[in-house]
Amino acid sequence: MKQPRIVLVNTSHPGNIGAAARAMKNMGLEQLCLVSPQQYPSAEATARASGADDLLAAASCHQTLDEAIVDATLVIGASARCRTLPLPMLDPRDCAELTMAQADRGRVAILFGRERTGLTNEELDRCHYLVQIPSNPDYPSLNLAAAVQVIAYELRVAAGTAGPAPEAQRDYAGAGQLEQFYAHLEQTLIELEFLDPENPRQLMRRLRRLFGRARPDQNEINILRGILTAAGKAAR
Ligand code: SAH
Repeated sequence: MKQPRIVLVNTSHPGNIGAAARAMKNMGLEQLCLVSPQQYPSAEATARASGADDLLAAASCHQTLDEAIVDATLVIGASARCRTLPLPMLDPRDCAELTMAQADRGRVAILFGRERTGLTNEELDRCHYLVQIPSNPDYPSLNLAAAVQVIAYELRVAAGTAGPAPEAQRDYAGAGQLEQFYAHLEQTLIELEFLDPENPRQLMRRLRRLFGRARPDQNEINILRGILTAAGKAAR
């Protein structure tokens, strides 16, 4: 079984990185991944990690989110807010159950955003689902490490329960393969003059939502890319 990866995106305060590591270790999680943290390594992170500094030492660090999730077959974004172009929403319990049901098949990545501004739309474009911790609508944002704690706790609870029956084995496409597909799709739609690069509107985002719901496997992505290649040839 693969442990879910907790991905902290562009965190400003090193203390939050340490506190998140501690929250994870308390709940038995080990896979911490940092994407371009603003201040790291840092003595404050180590201090706040307390006895979880081994998790910090083992954390992987990446320049871009795409590198951090290239092998992930399920990507879930933690967000305090509903967004204009909605993704399917989970509560922390459903998030944990879904994660555990997928964990023997591929890597699940759960993304946490910046303290001030959360995750960008481009980052949310990489997500299959959003997870929202129910909270006071007048003050919905938890501290970053507190949000990691709630999600990690539910993962721990779900790990101890049987969970839903697993679905049939599928080789889901990883985020890296999906990004290559989206780039190919966009390029072909431009060649076909269906997509106007001067006025793209939300077309690619809507198509991402569509394919995100379908969760194509590797074979299906290869078929789709074959179709794109044929369409591109026909257009030329
Ligand atoms: N002002 C930011 C909040 C950032 S809090 C915003 O409106 O998006 C830092 C991160 O903690 C968020 O990006 C999210 O990943 C997580 N987080 C905080 N509160 C949350 C909640 N209620 N549900 C899910 N994630 C939450």
